[in-house]
Amino acid sequence: MKNFKYATHPKIQNLRLPAIAVLFNAGKAGIFETSNLPDNSLLVGYLDDQPVITCQTEIPEWVESKDMRLWQPELEPPMLKAVNRARQLINWQENFQYCGRCGTKTELHASEPAFYCAKCGASFYPRLDPAVIVAVLKNDEILLAHNARFSNNIYGLIAGFIEGGETMEDAVRREVMEEVSIKVRNIRYFRSQNWPFPNAFMLGCIAEYESGDVTPDGVEIVDAGFFRRDNLPELPLPGSVARGIVNAWINGELKGNI
Ligand SMILES: [Zn+2]
Repeated sequence: MKNFKYATHPKIQNLRLPAIAVLFNAGKAGIFETSNLPDNSLLVGYLDDQPVITCQTEIPEWVESKDMRLWQPELEPPMLKAVNRARQLINWQENFQYCGRCGTKTELHASEPAFYCAKCGASFYPRLDPAVIVAVLKNDEILLAHNARFSNNIYGLIAGFIEGGETMEDAVRREVMEEVSIKVRNIRYFRSQNWPFPNAFMLGCIAEYESGDVTPDGVEIVDAGFFRRDNLPELPLPGSVARGIVNAWINGELKGNI
């Protein structure tokens, strides 16, 4: 297995080719080796010594391309890191073409990994949005919820972004109360995962049910309940944060945390 090393600066210069290209187009990603770098490519990092570049552009027809979520369970961890980092850089490049303060066209800073406004001096670094995702446990059951945005019949975990001023624990308590109207206690950090849809940094947590009746908010969550291991609904895709935490619970790995 190769090692992935992050590039300290995304500027492309003096690369040893061929590079591994991660191209994005219309929500799909294609990965292949090439010596032709498209304009506006960014350097993602290195898989061993081979450069990985990324660009938002047409993907050649002969390259297999698919939705980013479908790549998640398929790629080895070093390649997955490279592809997820690439997705984040492309999102950053798209969103910070112009200065948010004065509207001037930005440029890649010469030394800092930032888009820079030469007029007012503002710098825009790649960003992550911290979010919590929580397994609420009650005896030998886990809380699973069907989100209105899910197109299929999947049941996942309660999740949401951390608001300004909140701790991780505050966000867990608030999200669970907002979405299913129950109180939780004994909140523990379990594991984290970068989730580039588009920039989420997921803090996986475990919490213990305290009180209240599970009542979906009817907006974000349309159905929810506690499920036993032998009576589980359809679960989120392998490779997702939610599926990893639910699998850990199925395997009995969460027991000691409560
Ligand atoms: Zn500016």
